[in-house]
Amino acid sequence: MKLSENAIKVLEKRYLSKDEDGNLLEDCEGMFRRVAKAIALADANYTDEDGLAQIEQEFFDMMSDLEFLPNSPTLMNAGRPLGQLSACFVLPIEDTMEGIFETIKNAALIHKSGGGTGFSFSRLRPKGATVNSTGGVASGPISFMKVFNAATEAVKQGGTRRGANMGILRIDHPDILDFISCKKDNSEITNFNISVGITEDFMKAVEYNLDYELVDPKTKETAGKLNAKSVFNTIVEMAWKNGEPGIIFLDRLNIDNVVPKLGEIESTNPCGEQPLLPYEACNLGSINLYNMLTEDGKQLDYDKLAATVKKAVHFLDNVIDVNKYPLPEIDKMTRGTRKIGLGVMGWADMLCSLGIPYNSQKAIDLADKVMGFIQENAQKASQELAEQKGVFPYYEDSIYAEKGIKLRNATVTTIAPTGTLSLIAGVSSGIEPNFAISYIRNVMDNNELIEVNRVFKDTAIREKFYSDELMKKIAKAGTVKGLAEVPEKVQNIFVTAHDILPEWHVKMQAAFQRHTDNAVSKTVNLGHDATTDDVREVFVLAYKTHCKGVTIYRDGSRDLQVLNIGKVK
Ligand code: ADP
Repeated sequence: MKLSENAIKVLEKRYLSKDEDGNLLEDCEGMFRRVAKAIALADANYTDEDGLAQIEQEFFDMMSDLEFLPNSPTLMNAGRPLGQLSACFVLPIEDTMEGIFETIKNAALIHKSGGGTGFSFSRLRPKGATVNSTGGVASGPISFMKVFNAATEAVKQGGTRRGANMGILRIDHPDILDFISCKKDNSEITNFNISVGITEDFMKAVEYNLDYELVDPKTKETAGKLNAKSVFNTIVEMAWKNGEPGIIFLDRLNIDNVVPKLGEIESTNPCGEQPLLPYEACNLGSINLYNMLTEDGKQLDYDKLAATVKKAVHFLDNVIDVNKYPLPEIDKMTRGTRKIGLGVMGWADMLCSLGIPYNSQKAIDLADKVMGFIQENAQKASQELAEQKGVFPYYEDSIYAEKGIKLRNATVTTIAPTGTLSLIAGVSSGIEPNFAISYIRNVMDNNELIEVNRVFKDTAIREKFYSDELMKKIAKAGTVKGLAEVPEKVQNIFVTAHDILPEWHVKMQAAFQRHTDNAVSKTVNLGHDATTDDVREVFVLAYKTHCKGVTIYRDGSRDLQVLNIGKVK
């Protein structure tokens, strides 16, 4: 197997089966075998024993060759007693004490199993509203977010992962200003990513510098007015200060809601790439594009990519059937829409190998072509599965029924961050550019790993400018730009996140979004010296280029960063 030392370390720490004393019960190959076997079992009613063995082998090969990996909970839990395989959940929060604490309990169960949860707090009555039964006053969405946060903190000690949440509040909720600044202090609400749910009406009001109305979700009455531009500026300033809140465009999520009769989309999963209906879960998986190159690394092998997409859709569709859901409501919704989220990782490494700079029109055009190809083939695979196994149960309530397109899955594509998956596969994460050519990375709580980009190393050896000293120098500089030892052509190709102007980050996100059913996880990196105007421009560009949301991060704006450039131990 081709796993790096770092990958093996991560897998041994959290993914491989262990006995009660912490002794490993399987090796990495054993893990892929366990997962392949468990996922193939969904075909038991459709094929004989030989057929099943063949499917299992196909799944095993695809994972152990690092061509495709399912999201972490599938690798951790498939074929094991817990059996919870999804990374993403959205839970509703009703405006009652029972409702709120029921959701906290449900979120705790999901976190224990390695899943992440997203919530909209928009239905909760604002701070200061009356509580009929007691005559007291409500404490509002932000105070309850803190309770969710504390529960997550307690559960994370015993679970497989840290526990991650997305908290969303609509822009017209009366407590919106408190929400926008609720993470001003970095040590508060640390188990949440927060995003403001923005509407088209609000964006128009910003454009024309108008006031907009706040609405009490309980009484549905107007609860005052705010100036849209000034609220927008507050969001921009907070994001500039420490990267939060992000924004999501709620109306866009709902335009792409393929089962609108089942309800409204209010929230996404923690990293923003998966909009879901209340009680819906989704399992993700990512194709390693770097491993889709021809042997010489100079071309993308489209035949191999098409074959991998087909197998990956089959795999993810099977996950829905063998998954053990933490709640009956989730079981019903998730099996009802059968959403899957196939995406990619290793995009930047692939571009480097092809000699295409990330910040170029050529890269954007290729993004359109490659993701368009994946979307088309994934839909085709889902159609073929529908012919064999039937359409998703809520098909009649979907827009596809009106169009007469028979699909097994209500959605097929999502671009996940692949935080751990990309580490296991040893490639650049999701569609992000490389953060640095060599860097230190904090993974899994407080562990640090040193990484050197292997495509760069190969190139440096091939072009005969490799030296250990140079690698150290690059690690310190955090870029190859301007280093005399590196040929100029190579400098232009191996651009890192901070060499790339923010607008190219957004353009890349938009290109992938054009061919993705769900959403795209992407962070627009800004240099430390970026201004609030730069942040505002990114937000506006994301809006204009039809992204579903946007997250920015200005280097050095938070004490604890997941990735650090220029630091080598
Ligand atoms: P991975 O690479 O481990 O499969 P990703 O980084 O692609 O995961 O994240 C995909 C989704 O998985 C996230 O949006 C979130 O829903 C969930 N997730 C990621 N990390 C965590 C975590 N520590 N705890 C709970 N859920 C998580």
